[in-house]
Amino acid sequence: MADANRTTQHIALEEPLLFEKSRPGRIGYSLPPTGVPELPLKDLVPAHLYRERVEGLPELSETDVVRHFNRLAQWNYCIDRGIYPLGSCTMKYNPRLNEDIARWTAFTEAHPYLPDELVQGCLAVQWHLERYLCEITGMDAATLQPAAGAHGELTGLLLIRAYLEERGEKRTRILVPDSAHGTNPASAALGGFEVVHLRSDERGLLSPSTLRAAMSRDVAALMITNPNTLGLFEEDILEIADILHEAGAFLYMDGANMNALVGIARPGDMGVDVLHLNLHKTFSTPHGSGGPGSGPVCVKAPLAPYLPVPRVFRDGDRYYRVWESPRSIGRVKAFQGHFGVHVRALAYILSLGRDHLRDIAIHAVLNANYLLARLKPYYHLPYDRRVMHEVVFNDRRQNPSGVTTMDIAKRLIDYGLHPPTVYFPLIVPGALMIEPTETESIEELDRFAEAMIQIAREAAEQPEVVRSAPHRSAFGRFDEVEAARHPVLRWSPHGFPPPRKEPPKESG
Ligand SMILES: *Cc1c(COP(=O)(O)O)cnc(C)c1O
Repeated sequence: MADANRTTQHIALEEPLLFEKSRPGRIGYSLPPTGVPELPLKDLVPAHLYRERVEGLPELSETDVVRHFNRLAQWNYCIDRGIYPLGSCTMKYNPRLNEDIARWTAFTEAHPYLPDELVQGCLAVQWHLERYLCEITGMDAATLQPAAGAHGELTGLLLIRAYLEERGEKRTRILVPDSAHGTNPASAALGGFEVVHLRSDERGLLSPSTLRAAMSRDVAALMITNPNTLGLFEEDILEIADILHEAGAFLYMDGANMNALVGIARPGDMGVDVLHLNLHKTFSTPHGSGGPGSGPVCVKAPLAPYLPVPRVFRDGDRYYRVWESPRSIGRVKAFQGHFGVHVRALAYILSLGRDHLRDIAIHAVLNANYLLARLKPYYHLPYDRRVMHEVVFNDRRQNPSGVTTMDIAKRLIDYGLHPPTVYFPLIVPGALMIEPTETESIEELDRFAEAMIQIAREAAEQPEVVRSAPHRSAFGRFDEVEAARHPVLRWSPHGFPPPRKEPPKESG
């Protein structure tokens, strides 16, 4: 049985700031004599930049610094510690094999300006990855240049814009359902389009009638996230594609959630004209805390002439790059994108092979439906349907005792678990968006489910314990409003660090 008092206290460390650990005169390096005449610094630095003393920098030994950062690293929750059920983020375990291969010096030391003859292997990686991604998605051509999912969206929209402009068509609108990922409307606006929001129906899906009513000669494309952010498969996708194509508009699919479909169904077969993938979600690049990621864009043949340059082609067994192309939208990223991420993705695809790629989707969907079944007796499920890779509950049943989604998320920390995505998607008030991913075992799913069930019980029986969580972390609940209104962003010898609050007392 889950028990907050028996979990490892791996997020309950205490670590002072480096500034607090500083001791005057302590130093972390020693240098041998230079062997050349030494000049006073004063003579080398312009007078207005010279300072006798730098106020307030911490003074520490090497041991102090190494231990400080190691302790902070252990303080962090990470995928190598346990389940990381952040909905929409696909925080899955990535095999170490792919990390090893990405670190081969043949890859890491190749400069992108080396002539084609000297980087045949690197070009082969990109050419093959493009072919595999096209095969997996059912599309005709691809670019690996975009740096992330949202960047792929923008690229895809610029391709559509270039296509329309060449034909003199003035289509200014992009339709975006309310169950789309939040980056979709932002990318459409950045791409110079007007965003028109569509409401999903009582099933949580985009219905063909809603789309039909929104169609006009102004519509350039629909951007649909499939599976959508409710974790639901857009069941009317074929009819949706027909409606768009009959009106001369494009179907853009946000394919960041491809781990729900890979090896089972191909967007290209559903009428999708352009989509992006998130290699850092589906295809084995660890992510979170920044990049690099990669958001390849796959297109059907009519959009291929507009793809960014340089592109990689093959002639017999020779690979070569084409740096200029008259109809290309140009570059969207330096060189050929985040090459190390491409290496990982190809290694991952090849190590799984045709037979096991589909296991990704099978397990992603099975795991999400397992959590749905285990948690449904305890949490409200606004859209009660078979889900794909994630499931969205909310806090409606806990609200009468004053417990909210934020409280539930904070209480999970006491159980040694990372909370799910909260308050997204926006169409579910108080959303708890759980994506277990395909790499979790049934024991880990049970560990998560039992903690959630225990919290549901606590919410009914001792709501104050949940409402004041977390109790076992180094710090209690932060004042998020204060932090947003009055952020303290720089250290000064006089004003920072601010006085520490006592950590809240353990209860229960
Ligand atoms: C993560 C995600 C994105 C954005 O991807 P980034 O790489 O963070 O830019 C877009 N759409 C969906 C559905 C996603 O899950």
